[in-house]
Parts: sequence; C-alpha cells; structure tokens
Amino acid sequence: MVKNKLNRADIKFFIIPFLVLVIVFGIITYSNIKMRINEILKVTEESTISIADTYATTLLNSKEASEIVEKLLDEKIVVASKAVLLLDDVGNNLSLTDLAEQLQVDQISLYNAQGEIIYSDTKEYVGWQAYEGHPVYDFIQSKQDTLVENIRQDTVNRKYYKFGYVKRNDNTFVQIGVLADNIHSFTSKFDTQRAIEEIVKKENVEQAYFIDNNFKVVASSMPEYNGSIIEDVRIKSHILKGETAAQRSTINGVKVFHACAPVFYNHEWLGTLSIIWTSDLIDSEIRDIVVNGLLELSLIILVIGAILYFAHRKNQSNIKIAYYDSLTGLPNAEYMAEYLSDAIKKCKQEKVAVLLLNCTNFKITNATYGFKYGDQILKQIADNVKKTIPSNSMLFRFNADRFILIVEDYIKQEDLIDLSQTIIDTLKKTFDGGIKYEYVNAEISIFEVQNDSITVDKILQDSTLALNNLINSSQGNIILFDENMEVDLIRKDKIENTIRNVILGDDKKSFYLEFQPKLDTKTNKINGFEALARMNVDTLGSVSPLEFIEIAEQRMLIYELGKHIIKLACDFINVLKSEGFDLTVAVNLSVIQLLRNEFVDDIDLMIKEFGIEPSMLEFEITESIFLDNFEIINRKLKNVKQMGVSIALDDFGTGFSSFARLRDLEVDTVKIDQYFISKISTLDENDLLTVDIISMSHKLGLIVVAEGVENEEQKKYLEKHKCDVLQGYLISKPLEQKDAIDYLRHSD
Ligand code: C2E
Ligand code: CA
Ligand code: CA
Repeated sequence: MVKNKLNRADIKFFIIPFLVLVIVFGIITYSNIKMRINEILKVTEESTISIADTYATTLLNSKEASEIVEKLLDEKIVVASKAVLLLDDVGNNLSLTDLAEQLQVDQISLYNAQGEIIYSDTKEYVGWQAYEGHPVYDFIQSKQDTLVENIRQDTVNRKYYKFGYVKRNDNTFVQIGVLADNIHSFTSKFDTQRAIEEIVKKENVEQAYFIDNNFKVVASSMPEYNGSIIEDVRIKSHILKGETAAQRSTINGVKVFHACAPVFYNHEWLGTLSIIWTSDLIDSEIRDIVVNGLLELSLIILVIGAILYFAHRKNQSNIKIAYYDSLTGLPNAEYMAEYLSDAIKKCKQEKVAVLLLNCTNFKITNATYGFKYGDQILKQIADNVKKTIPSNSMLFRFNADRFILIVEDYIKQEDLIDLSQTIIDTLKKTFDGGIKYEYVNAEISIFEVQNDSITVDKILQDSTLALNNLINSSQGNIILFDENMEVDLIRKDKIENTIRNVILGDDKKSFYLEFQPKLDTKTNKINGFEALARMNVDTLGSVSPLEFIEIAEQRMLIYELGKHIIKLACDFINVLKSEGFDLTVAVNLSVIQLLRNEFVDDIDLMIKEFGIEPSMLEFEITESIFLDNFEIINRKLKNVKQMGVSIALDDFGTGFSSFARLRDLEVDTVKIDQYFISKISTLDENDLLTVDIISMSHKLGLIVVAEGVENEEQKKYLEKHKCDVLQGYLISKPLEQKDAIDYLRHSD
C-alpha cells in the first residue's frame, strides 16, 4: 500500500493516455504534412508536364517554321546558283570566295559539262571530277535544270552540306553548298531557344533545358550548356524511361527542384524537357506546411495536456476529499481502513501494530475555549505526533480526537510502548499560541496484529476495548490489547443483556434477592434482613453483585435495576408481614440512584404501591458517595428519612471515615466493615478500633451493626462492647425468600 494516495494515479491514468494521444496526433500531423508536401511536388511535376505539352506544340510550330525556313533556303540556294550563272565573268576562284561571302553560302563550285570543277571558292576542289554513283554525276545524267539535295556528307571534306545545282544551256552548271551545321543551328536555334526562353520567364522557373534523345542539350536557358551531354545518372534514367519525375537536387551548390517531362508530338518522342524550379518558394511553402502542422500539433497537445491536467487535478482533489482529513491534512479513516487491510495481509512476514491514540481532555478543551481553538489544537496534535513518529509508521486521523498510527516492521513490543510514551510526552508540551497551561492528555492502546484473517473492524473494536480497559493498565496511559479483554467484554455484554431482560420483566428466573438475617444482641432475636441481589446467567453461572452492579452502573441500567430490587424488597416485607413478622429489610443503594431527581418521589410511589410501612424499609449507602455532592445527597437522605425510611452507613471504617462528619450525616445506623470484625480474632483486644467505633457511634445516637460475624469469639467480643446488631455467617448466610421465612419460624 502506498503511503501517499495522491501520487498513486499519475502514471497509470494520465501520463499514458497523454502519450498515446500525443503519438496518435503526431502520426496524423506527420502524414498530413507528408501528404501536403507530396501534393506540392505533384503540382510541380504537373506544371512541368503541362509546360512540356505546351513546349511540344511550340516545338512543332517551330518545326513547321523550320520547314518553311528550309524551303526558303532551298530557294536561296537556287537563287544564289542562278545569280552565279548570271554573272558573265566568274573567271577566277578568288572572286568566288567573295561571292560566297556576299551570298552567305559556304561553297560555290563551277562545273563543265563533263562534271569537272573548273572554279571553286575552295581551291583544292578545282579539277575534281564527278564519278559514277556520285550525286553530282546523277545530276549531270538527269535532264533536270535545277536540283536541291537533302543534306549529305561532302565526299571530300566529310562535312554535311545542303547542296543545290543549276544548269546552263551548255550543260555547265553551278553548285552551291550550305553547311548543315549552320542550317541546323539556325533553324533549331531560331525556335527551341525561343520556347525555352519563354519557359524561363515563367514564375519560379530558374532554368530550362531541352534534351534530345541522345542526352544532348539542344536548347537551354544557359547558352553555355548548349550542346553538352547530360551525365546525371538519375536524370538519364528518367529520360530513358520517358517518365515524369520531380526531385530535389543541387546544381552548382544551389538547392533546386528538378523536374523532367518527355515531350511528345503525335506519338513522336521529340526529347525531354527539364525544368529547374527555384526551391525557395516551394521550400517556404513546405516550411509553412511543416510549421503550421507543428503549431497545430502543439496546440492539440496543449489542449489535451490541459484537459488531462485539470482532470488529474480534479481527481487529486477527489482523492483528497475522499481520503484526507481537511482539518489536519492527515489521511482519514477511509484511507486507514484500506491501508490497514493491506498491512494485515503482510502481518506474517513483518510485524504490524495499530496504535489508537485518544485525547482524554479534548472535549473539555473544546467546551471551554470553543471549537476554533479546539481545531487549532487538533492540527498541532497531528503535526506534533507526525514529527515524532518513525518512518515505518503512518498516522491517520480516525475521528474527532482519536488518531491511529499503523506501525510496520518493528522489532519488539517494547518499541511500541516506548513510541507511545514518546507521543504522550510530546503532547504534554504546551502548544503554540495555546493557553499556557493547556496540554493534551493522551492515552494509547496498542494492538499487535497476529492473524492475517482479522478484519479492520475487529482491530478497531479491540483497540477501543483496550482503551476502555485502561484503568487496569500497569503502564499508565498505555495499554496493550490482550484476548482476555474481549472475553471480559463478552461476559459484560451477557450480564448487561440479562439485566435488561430482568428490568423489562422478561426474565424472572435469573435475578432474585437473598436475605441475610440480622440479630439484635439485646433481645437475641432477628430484627431484620439485608437484601442482597443475586444473578444467574446462562453459561456464566452465578454472578457476584459486585460485578453486575458495576456493569449496571456503567451501562446506565442501575436506576431501573435498583427500582426492581426495591420492589422485590417491598414484596418481601409484605410476605414477612403476611407471615406475622414485622421486620425491616435493608436495601443497598448505589450513588447514581440517589442522585436521580425523581428518586425520592419514586420511593414514595413504591411504598404506596406496595402499601408497606416506610419504617420497614432501610437503605444502605457507602461512605464514599459523600465524597462528592455531600449537600445534595444529605438533603435527599433527609427527605427519605422524613418519609420514615431509615438509613445505614455501610462499610464504615474503610473509606474516609470521620466522626466529625458522621454527626452531620442523615443516617440512623453505622455498619462496621467486615475488615474490622475479622481482626477481632487475630489482634490484641487493645489494638482494636472496633470498640471506639461502637462507643463513638453510640455517643452520636446511632445504632451499630457488625458485618461479617463469623465466629463466637467475635460475637462475644461485640456483645461485650454493646454492639447493637450482628450480621454474618455465624448467624446465617444470606437466604432465599422461602428459606428466610423458614429460618424465622425456627429461630422463634
Ligand atoms: P455489602 O453490602 O457489604 O454486603 C455484605 C456482603 O458480605 C455480602 O456479599 C454478604 O454475602 C457477605 N457476607 C455476609 N456475611 C458474611 C460473613 O460472615 N463472612 C463473609 N466473608 N462475608 C459475609 P455479597 O452478597 O456478595 O454482596 C457484595 C456486595 O454487593 C455488597 O456488599 C453490596 O455492596 C453489593 N450489593 C449486593 N446486593 C446489592 C444491591 O441490591 N444493590 C446494590 N447497590 N449493591 C448490592
Ligand atoms: Ca450492605
Ligand atoms: Ca458492607
């Protein structure tokens, strides 16, 4: 069992759900961010594709344009050739070189009708003869006047040219050549380049390339890359597969987005468009997404955290209300019950004890100084005890001014007694802010748990029982519970039950009176009886009046029981009368009976009810009852005496007897205690007080009765010293009603 209930629930009930929710929301946020980033990349990819589509159209337009250009070139070649033929004097090679420059062509050659070059702007060609199978030869053989060839390799310098021919009437002809390289660069540069430049103008496009299917950059926004070959393996693989792809990469140390898209036109794969997007905007967009995502996540975590935190706080305060005492802050009885039931289970492995602490004078403190002050004192009691106790113990507020200390794993019983003593001593010290002479009187019962099947309730019951038995303790304010206390309690409960049934009239067998005869020494005749209560309880047998009278007093039953006894005595007086004996019957009274307001009236009622002579009734009271409330009791006795009932002072000589006071007491008779009588046979006659008691009592006009007269020696002595009445086994033991009557008859 944990020592602090408030720490108990944390991990289990709050941290775990918190972590689970954080993880769940973390995953959701993560996949959200990822999805949105992918969307952005997808948009980039799609933009590239759409640009590539547009580019394909543009490119086709440019192809058409280049076809027109090529046609114009063909015409240019034909026009140039005709222009050369129109010149009369092309007589030397040098002028041809000038002409080529003026006409912006790369080759001009003049042939004779047999196909031999007569003049050329390239001197080395002069004298070259067209042979069979050569395109020039084919032209000669053809009946055509003009021809523009497709681009072909020059058979001499191996360069590509577009050649055109125009014949004169004499079958000599002119050949004009334009280098293919120049044509290509002219046409392609003219159109793809423009398209690329258009693309670069678009927002976020950093660079654009058009790559042919041999990985050669055909057009580029960076002219220096034109003609270069792509080496990047990844890009090459995308190009090869003709697939669209967007990826991050670094170009010249700058982070970019690289997107490739194949360019198709009417299923003809023209090449690949590669666009490099600035990553700044995409990055910042992604950053925004990530930041927003994280912000949302933190907000969610914060909200969940706050909800769980307040739930936790609420739970804590609920635990606090349920398990802690609001005044002292100590764990309460509820908590104690749970804690103790756990501790009981361990009692075989380690010693467990329960100390019940009760403040005896606390109620008076409360009543005298008020509850506010009382609360303050209780708080300090809790604090002081808490400071005193060792770490193997736990303190609880049980109720009102009672505390419970559960001690675990101690070594021996003496340690518990020492600890209890320390606590009691601590409370003896005066309190802060308290009244100077104020301190707390505490008593502690110690219960050692031996049996792991005992219940918490039983322990508390037994601890309380032990406290009630404190008067019997040898350790002052500390008492150890033992099994006999319980046996004792069971016995007391049985007796109490019997008393209740007797009072209610439900039990007429268990309770009765015995009557002990009293002998008048002057007449040597029985002059009365003392009524002595008798009780037989099932399973217990006969119980001494000393025991059941005390129980009746403790359990507030003595007044009713006393009335019952007086009624039985009155009944006996009537029986005696009916048998012809006018004898007094003495009834023993307990002080509680006398103190009751209605006592005198009740006696009066009973006398009337039974119709007895009041003088036939006598009450025996002990001296001790005069210790307190002397005035009240004496007044009551006076009232009773005025009714005609006589009073005897019982057990005289044992208490705080004083003859001075005896004079003021409203009594008629003194009964010398058995103790003095028993000394008669053992002590020297001169040492005996009995004589003085008799003579002094006589001087005060009181009748003297000797109790417990057991032998002739005592009898003789008492008679010699003029003791008025003798009572004791020598005369007779207490007798049941029938036997008492019989006794009277026989003693006559
Ligand atoms: P007590 O009033 O002093 O009663 C006298 C006791 O001495 C009686 O004991 C009686 O049986 C006993 N006794 C009589 N003669 C002798 C003798 O020669 N030798 C010895 N050793 N003892 C003798 P019991 O009946 O056990 O009563 C004990 C006490 O119980 C009484 O003492 C009285 O205080 C109380 N008691 C008895 N009946 C009642 C009652 O009805 N009401 C009240 N309040 N107390 C009663
Ligand atoms: Ca008596
Ligand atoms: Ca007595």
